[in-house]
Amino acid sequence: LGQLALGPVFRNARLFPGNVAVRDRVAAYTYANIFMSANELSKEISAKLEGRINERVLFLCPNDVQYVITLWAIWMSGQIAVPVSPLHPKSLLMYYANDSNSKLIITVPEYADLMSRVANNASTKLQVLDDRLKLNCTLMLANKPDDLEGGRPDTFYNKSNALILYTSGTTANPKGVVLSYKNLSAQAASLLDAWRWNTDDVLLHTLPLHHIHGIVNSLLCPLYAGAKTVMLKKFNANTVWSYLLGVTARPEDRRITLFMGVPTMYSKLVEEYERVFKEDPKMVEYIKNTLKSKIRLMVSGSAPLSQPLFNRWLDITGHRLLERYGMTETGMILSNPYDGDREPGYVGVPLPGVSVKIAKEPVENESIKTLVECSNIDGTVVIQKNGQKDAQGNDPTGELLVRGDAIFTKYHDRPDTTKQEFTLSGWFKTGDVCQYSVEKKKFKILGRKSIDVVKSGGHKISTLEIESALLGCPEVKDCAVVGLPDEKWGQKVAAVVATTHKIENSTEIIEKLRIYAEERLPRYAVPKEWKFVEKITKNAMGKVDKKFLIRSLFGEP
Ligand code: ATP
Ligand code: MG
Repeated sequence: LGQLALGPVFRNARLFPGNVAVRDRVAAYTYANIFMSANELSKEISAKLEGRINERVLFLCPNDVQYVITLWAIWMSGQIAVPVSPLHPKSLLMYYANDSNSKLIITVPEYADLMSRVANNASTKLQVLDDRLKLNCTLMLANKPDDLEGGRPDTFYNKSNALILYTSGTTANPKGVVLSYKNLSAQAASLLDAWRWNTDDVLLHTLPLHHIHGIVNSLLCPLYAGAKTVMLKKFNANTVWSYLLGVTARPEDRRITLFMGVPTMYSKLVEEYERVFKEDPKMVEYIKNTLKSKIRLMVSGSAPLSQPLFNRWLDITGHRLLERYGMTETGMILSNPYDGDREPGYVGVPLPGVSVKIAKEPVENESIKTLVECSNIDGTVVIQKNGQKDAQGNDPTGELLVRGDAIFTKYHDRPDTTKQEFTLSGWFKTGDVCQYSVEKKKFKILGRKSIDVVKSGGHKISTLEIESALLGCPEVKDCAVVGLPDEKWGQKVAAVVATTHKIENSTEIIEKLRIYAEERLPRYAVPKEWKFVEKITKNAMGKVDKKFLIRSLFGEP
């Protein structure tokens, strides 16, 4: 399949024209259906842009076939797609439209009012898709191979940019990441190989479609593979359970082979399981016995997966979730194995085509002190430098650097930031702190160096590991751990906790949590301050805005 992933994805439609590519709430659409609809739309886009190419086209479509048609059409007409989400507030949509300097905005009638305001604000043209697009798409029948000719010549795609994706904005304003067709096909080829995609696969898609996880891992991969994507408009735990169990109304929706989610989705599925199935021994048995055989792979990523959640999911379904790590700028970097042991807390080894280094901090662009180096060459992991434990017995720890064909081209309109984030020898600095287990030969993500890693009294403490430990405590429903300034130690650890029960006495619960933490964590990692909230707010990708939490709860700058 690696071979298939070389060109722009719509070209692959010629390999399996009659396969169903997408099924949404309304109908099923074959590769030929989508190709031909997109080709029609691409002509309209070219006309709107007066024959120009390489313009940015921002689009807001629901998670259904219209999204795929629009994305392909933008690419066929030679433009750069800027996908945005209905989950974004208007101010952010305006920011994306202006920052990307989009020359056309495409949307569906449902969002026409909203997007016309965005288009006015950015002085951009607006195109509202015809309501009949989906219906027409089902009627498009390919008769001859020529029907699936379209797009620009391959020489164009070999050297052009395809997509601008905005980062989540966790550390600063969201940055537009420019990805070329080559980057996208390298990212897809790597995952097709590592996760064994095939034409028979059916993926249940419930992720937002403005982020690498929803676009590359869960849409481009099945489209490159000739597989089927069942698109739900949004994630709903009850609906997802019915698909996973194969008890949907339409018989043709009853076979799902893959599911990908962010950790919050899995915790919502666990909550729903506890609400609906837990008391029913027959269902408990059924789920345990059948989910493992029905579904070949369940993936988690975009935010850290806690050990208690990994274990609970294993307990309920028999699935060891495959956790992987990646970012907008790079696609997927590290992954637990398809075959072999998936250990909670670790994110595995480099994916095919990816090379990584752990570098001693701070990483200067001119010279890097490499602690660990490891590459995956055509599916084989090669360790160039295994690293050593330090005098205290700690595994090598530092900033993760990455290199490969999948790595983005540049930040849109930010030449200085682009330059700053690459070393002179071309390694991209992820900004994440990573640890390599010398014995296990596996990587672990400690978190973003500026937010998730607390430096206290000379220790580098991963707030992600503390969160994972606290989540095991029956009183803790959810939590986020942060670093606060401390005169004596530099920084100190503080925890924000949402409890499972209403708190009667906070001194009592703090004491309980402190003892729980002391039994599981080194002394310096035990939170010194505790705050209680009803809910830890997370974005659609399951990410917590820790800067906001610190500002709003601890009043720190
Ligand atoms: P910004 O770059 O705008 O500050 P962001 O880094 O959150 O935002 P994304 O590119 O969406 O934007 O997210 C990538 C980050 O998500 C990674 O750098 C990493 O910190 C985190 N991440 C992704 N997968 C995992 C994982 N499995 N475990 C821990 N962290 C993860
Ligand atoms: Mg980032």
